[in-house]
Amino acid sequence: MIESVRVRLALWHTAIVAILLLALTAGAYRFIAETTGRRFDQYLEETGAAFRIEYVAQHYQSPNDFAAATAALTEFEFRDLDLGVMDLTGQVVAMATAPGESQATGDEVIQPFDPTALGRFIAHSHITAPECVTLPDRRGGVRACTLPVTMDGRSYVIVVARPLHNQRAMLESVRKALILIFPTALVLAAIGGYLLTRRSLSPVIAMTEHASRIGATTLHERLPVPNAHDEYGQLATVINGLLTRIESAFEQQRRFMADASHELRTPIAIVRGEADIALAVPDRPHDDYREALSVVRAESRRLSRIVHDLFLLARADAGQQQLQLRQFYLDDLIADCTRAARSLASRRGMRLTSNVPAEAAVCGDEDLMRQLLLNLLDNALKYGSEGGAVEISLCSEAGFHRIIVRDSGPGIPPEVATRIFDRFYRGDGSRDAVSTVQTHDDAHGVGAGLGLAIARWVAEAHGGSLVLARSSTAGSEFVLTLPAMAS
Ligand code: ADP
Repeated sequence: MIESVRVRLALWHTAIVAILLLALTAGAYRFIAETTGRRFDQYLEETGAAFRIEYVAQHYQSPNDFAAATAALTEFEFRDLDLGVMDLTGQVVAMATAPGESQATGDEVIQPFDPTALGRFIAHSHITAPECVTLPDRRGGVRACTLPVTMDGRSYVIVVARPLHNQRAMLESVRKALILIFPTALVLAAIGGYLLTRRSLSPVIAMTEHASRIGATTLHERLPVPNAHDEYGQLATVINGLLTRIESAFEQQRRFMADASHELRTPIAIVRGEADIALAVPDRPHDDYREALSVVRAESRRLSRIVHDLFLLARADAGQQQLQLRQFYLDDLIADCTRAARSLASRRGMRLTSNVPAEAAVCGDEDLMRQLLLNLLDNALKYGSEGGAVEISLCSEAGFHRIIVRDSGPGIPPEVATRIFDRFYRGDGSRDAVSTVQTHDDAHGVGAGLGLAIARWVAEAHGGSLVLARSSTAGSEFVLTLPAMAS
């Protein structure tokens, strides 16, 4: 198996050129042979027709066949043609062989025309129209043309013949020339093909060398694009696009790792710090130990929530997070989530209301959907103003359900709004929310900035969307749209 594309292409090119050349030379040879043969016959026929006119004219003057034929023959004298008149039995009336034929040509002595074979042909054929025939003879073949002529009720055949050796010699020269031209042209085509493929593939080789130098630390490098409109330019552009995506995925991954380890380090440091303080002095009061343990418990909950979220996102990224699809009712789920968030709402002195019509069936992963709604409610209660209001409402329209979570908080500034769905992103206001919630030591601990990223993924995995529809100093409004179940 030939590994090099260059060599493979050059070989293919040579094979195709060889087939074409073969067909071309064979075609050219055939064309030359047929054309010269046709011209040859035409010449014989025209000469025969002219001689026939002369013979007829002479016959009118002297009705003697032999005398008329001899007289006509003296008018027509050719160096390279045998000319004569024969009767229908193939007997020669009069015949003039070409004077040049009986002369010696070098060592070879050309024999004069022998009309015997032609006579046999005439005797066995019924000649009514001009006809050409090739007859074998000792001279390497002769081409003869026979033309019928009738005078005074008697029929004769005008005969014009010419040896084929000259024509055969010419065709032999053509054959030799073609046999010489064929391999020469083939070798030139092979060399040309190789040089051409080498030249046309050189941008690919340059790209390969350049691309092989790009590693994890040089992902910012790009392939040169000499001409963006040709195929190589388009290939380089596509590879560059791919490199850009790989670079940003690398960067995302790197940031994700850095953020994740940072988020994990904080609760671990708190747990260690609490344990160190608790153990630093022997026999501390009982309440101190309880307080330390409750901090440890809150932080380990936070830790396990972060680990759970990270695991979920990692599986989602790898396409391994399977949705446990089943039919459920959004109104029931909203009622459950509202109930769960009520204690946080009352701790913050906030009014939590829901506005949900009955029976909104969807098909989806109920646990993930619950996590999504709890996150929206949790955020609305965490970041909403103390004593304010949060409302969750559901409306169903043709083909989809829309869930709106509204709060009366301070809102999200536009520059923050563009980033809240990013992983590990937490707005400035979230710091205050941390302290508020932390003191309560419950499951709604401080987030790692993963909640909305997961919520959006869940919405999209269900064929829906999650957006921040509105945010101002009067509050924020998140809208979740989900496809309804086909009834
Ligand atoms: P977390 O709540 O853990 O910080 P999220 O991904 O749920 O992470 O939210 C990201 C950020 O979006 C929050 O830190 C906060 O700044 C902002 N945010 C989310 N919901 C609201 C809201 N209802 N009001 C104001 N800010 C919000």
